[in-house]
Amino acid sequence: MKYFARELDHIERWGYLRRDLFRNEEPRIKLVGMTAPTEEMVAQGISTETLPAYTARQSHESEGTREDDLRLNKKLISWGHHTCLEAVQFVYYVTGISKSLAGQWTRHRIGIGWTFRSTRYVKANKNMFIYPALEYIDSEDQVKAVYQAYDREHRHAMDVYDELQKLGVRNQELRRLMPVGWSTAAYVYVNARSLRHFFGLRLEKSAEWEIRRMAYLMYNDAMDIAPTLFEDLMHEEARK
Ligand SMILES: Cc1cc2nc3c(=O)[nH]c(=O)nc-3n(C[C@H](O)[C@H](O)[C@H](O)COP(=O)(O)OP(=O)(O)OC[C@H]3O[C@@H](n4cnc5c(N)ncnc54)[C@H](O)[C@@H]3O)c2cc1C
Repeated sequence: MKYFARELDHIERWGYLRRDLFRNEEPRIKLVGMTAPTEEMVAQGISTETLPAYTARQSHESEGTREDDLRLNKKLISWGHHTCLEAVQFVYYVTGISKSLAGQWTRHRIGIGWTFRSTRYVKANKNMFIYPALEYIDSEDQVKAVYQAYDREHRHAMDVYDELQKLGVRNQELRRLMPVGWSTAAYVYVNARSLRHFFGLRLEKSAEWEIRRMAYLMYNDAMDIAPTLFEDLMHEEARK
């Protein structure tokens, strides 16, 4: 983890206490696809990262090397010429996130879409839970006590779930018993422009910890692929 490592470490400070909790799940993101130029374009030196600048050259009918395009990406971003960032689309598979996070994430409407695991069609018997980070509590004993309370409530929710399922209640009603910490998984389809907007809002310390934790993970991945499209979003303090 190269970027926002300190922030992520702080959120994860009690992660070791969660390992043995009932059906605990931690977040994971996996890039499963992204826009790639055609073979003809690759032969000309165009890559996923340089597609925005390459296509933006249309406006002046200019030409440039790969290095020129990487520089142009940064200029386009600083000028607010952002439509060309829609040239690049990412597909991530995200697991170990809560329904609470999903509620916040799906408020983002432009240039982004999802396929979430259904709670109507998929049996929830093996479903997991996302425990809170509690990074703002300094006492380990206190954190352990809070986690035990969550552990107890999650077991209780699953017991009632099983009880009502045996009585013939369907998945679509059973899911109402589950807390918002219930885990879900999704494929997300997002273009680079929309991903930047998401980062701008959700890497901020004012963002809720769970969506911020996911934003840190996604940001590190995006920076590995196309740094010139995202590096200006790094906070001054995170660069140190
Ligand atoms: C720290 C934080 C706290 C929040 N707290 C709350 C809260 O308490 N309650 C709550 O309900 N929500 C809350 N939100 C959600 C927030 O209000 C937005 O719904 C969410 O962040 C999505 O942002 P967006 O609309 O900019 O994104 P998108 O929907 O992806 O939109 C991207 C951009 O497109 C433009 N756009 C999109 N739709 C329109 C439109 N219809 N008309 C004109 N321009 C448009 C805007 O410029 C917008 O910024 C919070 C968000 C953050 C980051």
